[in-house]
Amino acid sequence: MNKQRQGKELRLANSRKRVKCACKPALQELIEFTNTIPPTFQLKNLTDLYERKLFLSKPGSPEWIDFYKGQDEVFRTYLKTLPQEFQELMHATTIKQIEEFNGWLRSMPSASENAEVENQYWLKRIEIHKKLVDIYERFKWIRENLYKLAEVGENLEEHVGKQLDVALGVLFVEYAYLDDNGRIRRQPDKYTETLEGIEISRLRTCVVCKKLFWANRKDKKCCSEMHSALIRQRQSRESKREKREVYSKFAKRKKRGREITANGTGSKGHKGD
Ligand SMILES: [Zn+2]
Repeated sequence: MNKQRQGKELRLANSRKRVKCACKPALQELIEFTNTIPPTFQLKNLTDLYERKLFLSKPGSPEWIDFYKGQDEVFRTYLKTLPQEFQELMHATTIKQIEEFNGWLRSMPSASENAEVENQYWLKRIEIHKKLVDIYERFKWIRENLYKLAEVGENLEEHVGKQLDVALGVLFVEYAYLDDNGRIRRQPDKYTETLEGIEISRLRTCVVCKKLFWANRKDKKCCSEMHSALIRQRQSRESKREKREVYSKFAKRKKRGREITANGTGSKGHKGD
């Protein structure tokens, strides 16, 4: 009961507010990254993609390298099936590593002539592969969480004051972290910091295209001006249709009324006599 009232008050306060609230730049980045994948698109679990799932072999051994070579190929093939914009953002996250890798490659005589160089070549490539996979997994997880949060924001009353079914950190165990001054801190986590304190009901999905967006104004229902215009158009068409229906009903009633009155006048024609 108390919670219900709390929720109602919150909603009331919010409806009064048309105050603009800007999105945190880091969150805006996450939203834009998320929106490179269409809202209804299911991203695959990488474990479903790979044929050999578990591999216990000494890191750096020839079998180990072979295994990751295979996984890298499967992953890259899958990545190519995803939207271009997403692919570009994914590759951008490893650009520094790739530049270093290319620099190293140029400094080498010839990769094919030397087994040791060949080995190092693959170790470096696998490192980049692992980073890409890590980013893919994090992206997938964050995307799911943001959609969950937007859903929570739509049903605020149910959740106010409660623990949400949304994890903030990827790690289950939080290790102590020592800062530059030798003080114990929580592990810095960019994602947690990004979400901490945000007003959940401003994180929404567009009523037209279902993409995520941040409502800097409380009454925003769409991701863009174009989609807002579409909704306004739809609403105005709807209200015109309703008006037409009401008018035609009214006109019919009026006509019938006239007919009755006309008949009535006919029968009561001698009223004035
Ligand atoms: Zn939209």
